[in-house]
Amino acid sequence: MPKRHPMHTGRSLAYLLVAAIVTAALSLQSCAGGAAPYKETRTIMGTYVTITAARGGLTGEAVRDAAGKAFGEVERVDALMSTYKPDSQLSRINGNAGVGPVKVDPEVAETVGMALDIARETGGAFDPTVGPLVKLWGIASRAARVPSQGEIDSALKLVDYNQVVVDRGSSTVFITRPGMSIDLGGIAKGYAADRAVEALMKAGIPGGIVAVAGDLRLFGAHDDGSPWTVGVQHPRAKSTVLARFALSDRAISTSGDYERFFIRDGVRYHHIIDPRTGYPARGLMSVSVLADSSCLADSLATGLFVMGPVKAMEFAKSHPEIDTLLVTSKGEKMATGRFRDMETAPVKPD
Ligand code: AMP
Ligand code: MG
Repeated sequence: MPKRHPMHTGRSLAYLLVAAIVTAALSLQSCAGGAAPYKETRTIMGTYVTITAARGGLTGEAVRDAAGKAFGEVERVDALMSTYKPDSQLSRINGNAGVGPVKVDPEVAETVGMALDIARETGGAFDPTVGPLVKLWGIASRAARVPSQGEIDSALKLVDYNQVVVDRGSSTVFITRPGMSIDLGGIAKGYAADRAVEALMKAGIPGGIVAVAGDLRLFGAHDDGSPWTVGVQHPRAKSTVLARFALSDRAISTSGDYERFFIRDGVRYHHIIDPRTGYPARGLMSVSVLADSSCLADSLATGLFVMGPVKAMEFAKSHPEIDTLLVTSKGEKMATGRFRDMETAPVKPD
């Protein structure tokens, strides 16, 4: 019999020890009521999409399949509503601006319709027809630059949500003026998170989180019944959490000037454009909104960001169905609802 190398024995001992610790950890976990949740991240919609799912006694394969279906929903929404994909239904709507109504899937008409509702509700701070301005600034693309005032004025003439006609009955969308275009970047991620959560629920997942970048929708709880915890990102320190708290059966979205931006001559130019001025909105570093759906939280976070601190607080106070946390450019926090008594990390002024 060959003599065993002492190293071998050492390694097996170490392995046994690790195995024992892992087993102990697992049994402790099952005492606490369940295994760790399933977690997977994919890149879709040009950003990170993370799905966290409680297992609810399902097999590993069933949970993986459920997550796969949920990711599939995000991909489906992207294929319908992306402005980057020339064959998306949204690109077809934009390509027919000033030409005629375009027949689309009911959910595309519905999402454009919701975007218009939010535009009216926010007095045009959220405006899905910012397309020409978004393109002009090219934030987060290689074409990013500060446009001339003349270019901004020309693009501004092409921004007006009143020029979009949605017929939910016949499922058509018509942009009446040539050159105009719809950009659903401020609402489609939330809409996708809502659809993905529906897919998880349909597959029998008892609780989970779908996070499409800064747009999160949560339902149920951990397998042991404990609630999910979420963290809001600090607007100036990437690895710091601004606030952390327990949440269930709600959606939270954060819009910030730190997500996509460039700095020129000491000025920060970011991706949330004020449709009144044609420039990136000023006055806030970040806005977080809690709402019942991710679609609502996403679009309102963007809209409130554009409003600036004073108008956004007025809006938040008159809408008790949402909870809002604003961080102003001076580093001050303003909050309504659940955020009011929450402890938050300090933020230095810009
Ligand atoms: P969010 O990250 O959800 O705040 O959305 C920002 C994205 O929404 C931008 O990248 C644009 O695609 C789009 N957007 C920018 N400004 C506006 C606006 N005023 N209203 C609606 N959508 C906007
Ligand atoms: Mg948004």
